[in-house]
Amino acid sequence: MNGPEIRIEFAPELHLFVPAARRGGASTASTDGVSTLGHVVESLGVPLTEVGTLLVNGREVTAAHVPAAGESVTVRPVAHPQRVAGAPLRFLLDVHLGTLARRLRLLGVDTAYESLDIGDPALAARSAAERRVLLSRDRGLLRRRELWAGAFVYSTRPEEQLEEVLDRFAPEPHPWTRCTACNGLLRAAAKEEVAARLESGTRRTYDAFAQCRECGRAYWKGAHHDRLEAIVERALTRTRPADRTG
Ligand SMILES: [Zn+2]
Repeated sequence: MNGPEIRIEFAPELHLFVPAARRGGASTASTDGVSTLGHVVESLGVPLTEVGTLLVNGREVTAAHVPAAGESVTVRPVAHPQRVAGAPLRFLLDVHLGTLARRLRLLGVDTAYESLDIGDPALAARSAAERRVLLSRDRGLLRRRELWAGAFVYSTRPEEQLEEVLDRFAPEPHPWTRCTACNGLLRAAAKEEVAARLESGTRRTYDAFAQCRECGRAYWKGAHHDRLEAIVERALTRTRPADRTG
């Protein structure tokens, strides 16, 4: 771009997306006189899903603003908790976030995930069709125009990824209500109903079962329960700050 020059400053939270030279405060950027501020911000590396308020000379503008020469732009990060209007809060995770998907489902958060890579256009289209917030670490995917809503996942560690999603979107937890394998809702089941799906040791040892309404998978408080319980407890502490004051 070789048109009007502006000054642009990114909040520290957004520094990982921009080159080192733009992390020290305001820097100069050339625009083309017709592109929107949203396009300029994206072209400098920052996904718009991560951008909150945009200020021009201290005044709030939308991403559709076309920057003029000499303007001073401030780019702020998205607010936490972020409210996503227009549909119940539900998510769609890209193929690399399988562990995060299972943990969100463990908390009862509506989370779609396909272990097969269906490709960026199909993922973005599903986000739009089902009004799901797409979570990804792929900036290119988050730039797709068809997306209904999206968010960049900053950490590579599942524990931290879960904390990020809880802190950013504050989903209401309903632990132990969803199938971690398929996202279907669970119902209480009698032992006879699920007996055929159990190994004999499990059948002898346990009496309380749940079953997925979608895929039929049986659940019981087996060997992994303590580990899962710890994940749920940690998450509930995070999602219910009022409970911590007691
Ligand atoms: Zn299921």
